[in-house]
Amino acid sequence: MKDQFARTINYLRISITDRCNLRCFYCMPHQPEHLCHRDILSYEEIARIAALAASLGITKIRITGGEPLVRKGCAELVAMLKQISGIETVAITTNGTLLEHALPELCRAGLDAVNISIDTTQEATWRSITGYDGNMPDWPDLLQQCIGYGLKTKVNAVLLSETRNQWTELAALAEHLPVDIRFIEQMPIGQGKSSESETAQNVLQELRKQWPDLHPTEDMENGSPARYYQSKKLSGRIGLIAAMSNPFCSTCNRIRLTSTGQLKPCLSYGQCTDLRTLLRSGASDEKLLSVMGQCIYEKPQRHCLAAKTDKAEQQTMNRIGG
Ligand code: SAM
Ligand code: SF4
Repeated sequence: MKDQFARTINYLRISITDRCNLRCFYCMPHQPEHLCHRDILSYEEIARIAALAASLGITKIRITGGEPLVRKGCAELVAMLKQISGIETVAITTNGTLLEHALPELCRAGLDAVNISIDTTQEATWRSITGYDGNMPDWPDLLQQCIGYGLKTKVNAVLLSETRNQWTELAALAEHLPVDIRFIEQMPIGQGKSSESETAQNVLQELRKQWPDLHPTEDMENGSPARYYQSKKLSGRIGLIAAMSNPFCSTCNRIRLTSTGQLKPCLSYGQCTDLRTLLRSGASDEKLLSVMGQCIYEKPQRHCLAAKTDKAEQQTMNRIGG
């Protein structure tokens, strides 16, 4: 469906948990208060909302969190979502630590695409960003496995001053693998308020030292927030997601469902519609469709990340579903 500014909304990001096995400093606090299980939507409740969303024009769903793979049965949810008429793509965003084990089941369930968040390929830096004391996955091997399963595979890296001297090494993953490496400006949401982001322009400048022929690609992916660049020396593309320095709100096509069943038309505002209370009080499909339609229609024109407003989202990213 279209919102009040004639943007086509066809993409739903669903957070299935606020929990995570990592503690990326820009995302969640070290000792977070966790939500109770009864406050989190069941997979059946999520699937019901997803089916209604599909009837409003949603064609693509991304499962996220927290870390979606820490919740049991994520593959079951993938299978349920894939059965919904109108849903063409089901993707997942993950930190990658639990992915290798989960891949066969996710793929059997019909998963189409995966985004893996990899801020750096250097283990010491990765540990200091994530606070994790386990081993860092073997990224090239994990990416190769995803590609081998036929998944459309992308890498997401938040632009941090801590990784500045490692951006080129990270981007070099695209030399031999057909994966897009997407650099994302850090957003001042939750823990992300405590440090400054590097800009997308900085990373481009840095990468051009290694690949001087990096140039914008012609093909704009529909609704993608990334501007893509190519080099003859790279199999995959470099993507820049400049949410702060060059917002993409005028082409934004997404809405979010938090793990507690709040439908959010824009990441940056606290504004949301409480679907969980409606679901659990026996609301009809017609009632749910009507409030979901209203929420989508009222999607704000632009984010408020750079503004000082009491309407801004106060929750941390792992709670909202990044
Ligand atoms: N745990 C999964 C992961 O890390 O991919 C999924 C949830 S995580 C919240 C989703 C994405 O949000 C990750 O790529 C993460 O790097 C990004 N993210 C978290 N906090 C952010 C912030 N303040 N600014 C920009 N991106 C952020
Ligand atoms: Fe966990 Fe993802 Fe947040 Fe890192 S970015 S703490 S992996 S939810």
